[in-house]
Amino acid sequence: MEYRYLYSVPLYFLDLNIIFNQICTTACHLNIRTMAKYHLEPVEVSPVNTKYRRINTKLPVPESIPVFESLQRTEPPSMMGQPPVVWDRAEGFQIYDRWGNMWLDWSSGVLITNTGHGRPEIVRAIKEVLDRPLLATYVFVHEKRAELAEMLQKISPDPADYQVFLLTTGSEATENCIKLARTYAMEKHGRSKKYIVTFHNAFHGRTLGAQLAGGLPKLKKWIIEEGRNFIQVPFPDGFKNENTSFDLFLQSLNEQHVKPAEIAGVMTETYQGGGPDFLPVEYARKLEEFCRVHDIVSIYDEVQSGFGRTGRMFCYEHYGVKPDLIACGKGISSSLPLAAVIGRKDIMGLYAPGSMTSTHSGSPLPVVAAIANLEIIREEKLTEHAADMGDILIPELIRIQRKYPGVLGCVQGKGLVAGIQVVKAGTKEPDPETAFLINEKCFQKGLLMFAPVGPGGECLKICPPLVISEEALREGIHVLEESCDEILKH
Ligand code: PMP
Repeated sequence: MEYRYLYSVPLYFLDLNIIFNQICTTACHLNIRTMAKYHLEPVEVSPVNTKYRRINTKLPVPESIPVFESLQRTEPPSMMGQPPVVWDRAEGFQIYDRWGNMWLDWSSGVLITNTGHGRPEIVRAIKEVLDRPLLATYVFVHEKRAELAEMLQKISPDPADYQVFLLTTGSEATENCIKLARTYAMEKHGRSKKYIVTFHNAFHGRTLGAQLAGGLPKLKKWIIEEGRNFIQVPFPDGFKNENTSFDLFLQSLNEQHVKPAEIAGVMTETYQGGGPDFLPVEYARKLEEFCRVHDIVSIYDEVQSGFGRTGRMFCYEHYGVKPDLIACGKGISSSLPLAAVIGRKDIMGLYAPGSMTSTHSGSPLPVVAAIANLEIIREEKLTEHAADMGDILIPELIRIQRKYPGVLGCVQGKGLVAGIQVVKAGTKEPDPETAFLINEKCFQKGLLMFAPVGPGGECLKICPPLVISEEALREGIHVLEESCDEILKH
């Protein structure tokens, strides 16, 4: 077994932009696995009763089985990938079922509920609009849309020069960025400036354009020939791909016979979810310069990383860059479906009135939820809190990783998003089965994470609501450690 520290521990303590990597040999990003399945036979589990967790039934709860069975009859299996709990109520950082069980939440749904589940301020704002009532407007104007657009413009890289386009889903936002980049390039430079460059292992959503831009081959099998103007290059994560130099970006373009003058846009997640994997700062800055020199639209997908999650309002702020377009979603409202593109005015202004809209753009309920959500983030200083909690969480994860360095291959994180990549002992090959067992053990102990993610299903992802208290965070860490001990100690 070969160990290799890409970044030394002292460096981590100097610069809490954690990357603590180690180990091994083979590249793993192409080794795509099928996600493990949670069983639906109720099993006895040890009772749990703490301030934050309560489990007093078999799991899954026997009475909940008909709900799963019904869904198995009515929905495709793709919808069945999560730990088998039937959510009845969710508040703050806790999830409740109807049978008296309570989970400490480390999922935030899927990084949605940054300000916590069921925030009373958000509920109140929604109720007020419900009572008026004002439930749908298309793109007819309502006052709250103006208020939200202004709030989002204020947190953009340059409020005087950026505008806001409201949408409904993250995929819509990333697709809109692709369209805007292509339109800008075509209008300014002609049709040969057509390529969209994205990264291996990238996830930008599940619709066609978003998946053309995605870098996970397993998700793209249904795409036959549409992708000729989308190319991917290695992501400089430092573990799955050890070469983090920007030269590799240039070399990869060269190998694919793409000239800078032919590139319309470069899009990257600000961090890739399956690590989470961050860009080295120097790489991000070189990429920005490359885009500036060649008039390429730089796009940061902040659907997952925005709104305080990483200890900054947007994760790109860690890199000191200024994206041309920013795709937002999830944590923007902590609740109802809403997305946004925030972007350079000259790019956002390319479409005439009525030609870049969506039926539910700026729909009143999600809009007021987002306003309340942004106010909470500001008033409760949740961005700063996320950074402080990250300073506890990430060193603790590294401590756990050091107990099992052969299988807990890599720990990374910033603020309140972190991940442990579980690998086959002494290699970099994903071990989705072991990741799954640890995840399931946590579930049985009352700590809820969504199913492991990442290109090989190897990543235990930790992303609690940003309101989590230190005490609850530490309890979750303890449960994770206990689960690792139970699964890995024999
Ligand atoms: N981009 C990123 C980085 C995401 O994490 C996601 C959702 N997981 C999307 C885009 C797509 O968002 P949605 O599911 O709302 O379409």
